[in-house]
Formats: sequence, structure tokens, C-alpha cells
Amino acid sequence: MTVFIPQNELSDENIAAAGEILRRGGLVVFPTETVYGLGANALDGKAAKKIYAAKGRPSDNPLIVHIASPKDAEDIACTNEAYYKLASAFMPGPLTVILPKREVIPSATSGGLDTVGVRCPSHPVAHRLILSAGVPIAAPSANLSGKPSPTKADHIRADLEGKVDMILDGGEAAVGVESTIVKLDADGTATLLRPGGITHEMLQRVLGRVDIASAVTEALPKDARPLSPGMKYRHYAPRAPLTLLDGDDARRIAYCQKAPADTLLLVFDEETDLFAGHKVVPLGKKADKQSQLHRLFAALIEADAEDPRQILAPLPATDGLSLALYNRLCRAAAHHIKKL
Ligand code: AMP
Ligand code: MG
Repeated sequence: MTVFIPQNELSDENIAAAGEILRRGGLVVFPTETVYGLGANALDGKAAKKIYAAKGRPSDNPLIVHIASPKDAEDIACTNEAYYKLASAFMPGPLTVILPKREVIPSATSGGLDTVGVRCPSHPVAHRLILSAGVPIAAPSANLSGKPSPTKADHIRADLEGKVDMILDGGEAAVGVESTIVKLDADGTATLLRPGGITHEMLQRVLGRVDIASAVTEALPKDARPLSPGMKYRHYAPRAPLTLLDGDDARRIAYCQKAPADTLLLVFDEETDLFAGHKVVPLGKKADKQSQLHRLFAALIEADAEDPRQILAPLPATDGLSLALYNRLCRAAAHHIKKL
């Protein structure tokens, strides 16, 4: 049975009950500033395995470990100078740093890797929960594997009710896409594995050079082993085929207007009136990338619910916050891009 705690009942008592569930090896869904997380005690391999079962997640796809304060990384990972530079610039916040793991992290949590992803969330409910549990919390996004990451508690109830012990409703997630992931190697190399709310440019300002893993922008060759195992799995995918349109606004709008009537159009807020006869789902304001990131997963979920024959969306740019949009939409579209 799943206990659902509504937003206005996030009392210390209920958070303490959630912490107790985690300490005893159970599963709790909780809000973070990026998307909702499906949490278990990161130090308990058996508990971590329950996450994979609930999500239908492949067991070689490691879990990110959530801590209450940047220095708590010492307990679970081998930190370095670059980690503390990133921590002082961006933590707490939507950034995950991959470091060599310590033995306390079981291989069920690290997906068999000798590294661990460390993240210190800024969401107050996530913070209170980690403190109350008294253990680091392993948590992937709280969706079924392959579905868009959830930004509202309603999304989660549809997917995970009955499969987890408790759901904490924290309202709508602020960032809306998952954390930026950066890997720090012993030789000082830094590699961006997943773009998010902390941009490549922001990381470079703190660390100097930061490479971008090829899986961020390109389709992976079959049988490739990406630095971030999650990149090889289909993700964020609505059921209908999604095509990204590469062309200026005028061409894209004209192309969409001529599309068959059973096509669903993902368009910017300012454009929603231009497509009489088509179902449209707004993607956020054209000039406001933050609002687009915030809308992205909800828009994909809404589009999927309309059960269209196909979906068309604009191809994002690859600089600043757009890189996160580009990465998520390309993966949702299985890199299906139409040049106009
Ligand atoms: P999710 O929790 O659903 O946002 O997915 C977590 C992402 O972080 C997946 O793409 C994982 O492959 C990636 N990840 C977690 N831990 C590591 C690690 N130790 N090394 C590389 N990637 C990781
Ligand atoms: Mg995920």
C-alpha cells in the first residue's frame, strides 16, 4: 500500500515517518528542484534493488546518491579540489558530480561501477528527508523506465501507486529537467555527461575546460558503452513518433500548418493560435529557455495523453540552457530530425 502525503501535510512528523521507511529499506517518492525522485537507502543494496524493480530499470544503470550537505560526500566518495570548487559554486542545487566511490556504496547502488554520482538537492523537502533518514538516499527519477521524468505528484501516482511505500507531494518541480551530471577524473579531466539547469558554460567558468561526452549530442552507435550508462537507454519517449524540425520559425510554422490533422504540434506559447485544426501543446515562451525546460516533460506527457499519430517539435539550439532541451528532445525523438 502506498501512503500519499499531500503538500499541506508535510509536517515534521510525516517527514520523520518517511525517514523511518527509508532506514528500514522501503521506498519513498520525494520532490526535488529538478524532478521527483524515487528514493531508497543508498547504503542498503537490497533497498536499492527495489528501486530497479519498481521502475523496471536496467540493473547496470547507476543511481544518483543524495546528500544533505556537500561535505557528506566524504562518507561515500573520494572527493578532490574540483569537487569543492563545484560544490561552492552550485551546491545545494541541480548538479550531480561523479567521483570514485567508497566501499560503503554497494554495487546495486552504483550499477556495478566503481564510481558514484553525488548530489546535494536544494529542495527543502528533499533536504529535510535526507536529514530525517540519517542515511544518503539513492534516487533516480520517479518514472517508469523509458517514460518522461515526473514534475508533478499526479504523474507519479499513475506510474508508481502500489509499488512504493510513500509519496510526498511537494507541488510542481521548479527546474523540470534532471540534474546536470559532470564526471571528475583523477587526472583532473572534467566531462559533461548530461546537460541540465547548470550549463556547460557555467561549469567552464568554475573549472576551466570541461569536455562534452559525445552521447549528449549524438545518437550512440549500437553496443556503445557510454560514460553514463543511462544514455544508452531510450528515454523521455512518448508512444507516437516524434520528429524535430530544423529550420527557422517561419518554415517550421508553415510545415506544421500543412501536417496531417492527426499530428500533434509542440509549439511555443506565442504560436498556439496559428494552428486551427491541429492539437497543440505549448512548450513555454520562445525566448525563455528556463520556461521551456520547466515545461518539457509535462508537455511530452500531455502530448502522449492525446494519443496522436505523430508529434512535431522545434529542434533546439545547443548553447546555454538549450543544450539540455536539445539532449532531452533528441532522445525522445530517437534523433529523428527533419531539415526544412
Ligand atoms: P536518473 O536518476 O533517472 O536521472 O538517471 C541517473 C543518470 O545518472 C543515469 O543516466 C545514470 O547513468 C547516471 N549516473 C548515475 N551514476 C553514475 C555514475 N557513477 N557514472 C556515470 N553515470 C552515472
Ligand atoms: Mg530518469
